[in-house]
Amino acid sequence: MRFAIVGAGFSGAVVARELASVGHTSTVFETRDHVAGNCHTKRHETGVMVHTYGPHIFHTQHEDVWKYINRFGEMMPYRHTVKAISNGTMYSLPVNLTTINQFFGTDFSPEEAEAFIASKSDTTITSPVSFEDQGLRFVGRELYEAFFAGYTQKQWGVDPKDLPASILARLPLRFTADDSYFSHPHQAIPKNGYTEIVEAILKHEAITVRLGTRFSRADATEFDHVIWTGPIDAYFDYEFGRLGYRTLDFVPETLDGDYQGYPVVNYCDADVPYTRITEHKHFAPWESHERTVVYHEFSRLCGENDTPYYPIRRVKEKEQLLNYVQRARDATGVTFMGRLGTYRYLDMDVTIHEALATAAGMLECIANNKSLPSFFTDPLG
Ligand code: UDP
Repeated sequence: MRFAIVGAGFSGAVVARELASVGHTSTVFETRDHVAGNCHTKRHETGVMVHTYGPHIFHTQHEDVWKYINRFGEMMPYRHTVKAISNGTMYSLPVNLTTINQFFGTDFSPEEAEAFIASKSDTTITSPVSFEDQGLRFVGRELYEAFFAGYTQKQWGVDPKDLPASILARLPLRFTADDSYFSHPHQAIPKNGYTEIVEAILKHEAITVRLGTRFSRADATEFDHVIWTGPIDAYFDYEFGRLGYRTLDFVPETLDGDYQGYPVVNYCDADVPYTRITEHKHFAPWESHERTVVYHEFSRLCGENDTPYYPIRRVKEKEQLLNYVQRARDATGVTFMGRLGTYRYLDMDVTIHEALATAAGMLECIANNKSLPSFFTDPLG
């Protein structure tokens, strides 16, 4: 079959490659002048590998995904840590034994810390629905106010009472000194950046990549099927209004030496306008650079000409999404996938995992002479 794939991020690249491996051809349409979507990385004039659209750390528990990414580039072991500044003091994040002892001025053992946090937790909240519920239940009011309330208000532009608990459920709480930001068995950063990996995935004789090219629905007649990894509302010309996203602004600075000593420092207080400062060279501790590139990161509502990053998914957006999903289910000749195509907050590994599953599902449909459905993963799930 001949596929048009819209978007050259991980979703589009992985599905194109899987289809190519059994002889299906794809043309990948990408409006930007580079592949890899928001995972794009680029060597800066200082020699530092810059994560152009903000920090991306690869972490996974999916063995198939880990094997897959290692086929296309060298992954360097990397253990991500984050520091958080609250009320002028730097702490270790996610909340762990060191954070608790530093914050409360205690010298608790792991067991004592656990009992102490249990005494702080709001146990009247039995099944947290909102971000705030989750925070108060998870760590109690003091830690919630110090680390999560202000940061989240800045990051999402929404009262944490109106955000889902699932956003905070991304972060662990530990009663050990382990300060790893992620708990997954595989954590790494590509030696030569994500863009080189996505280029390698797309390097196949059955795949044509057209950079700087916008796909229009009129182009679909040249293909047997369209795989759309762009925003689902854009496909339907925003018929039910624009789905809400947060976008990010980065203010880059090039300096001598080492600016902060850490890859990411979060600023949790509401009165600091940025959410975090990223110092890119610390994502590649195996390299050494005399100069440094630093990004101050600001979050705001995504406008029409901005890059969408985080789907907001409040009640209003969920209603809109329902309408788009219905339209998508009724459409033929198109499959929606990925972060923008299904309007979900997806990590890179989950994106690859779903793209592999989507490609396998498509091949099964083709083998059984069945038409390809609009979704292989449920956007409402
Ligand atoms: N969060 C917070 N304070 C922090 C770090 C995270 O309140 O210092 C909240 C915030 O709402 C954020 C969510 O936890 O959106 C998930 O954090 P994560 O680090 O996974 O966000 P990402 O790196 O994907 O932006």
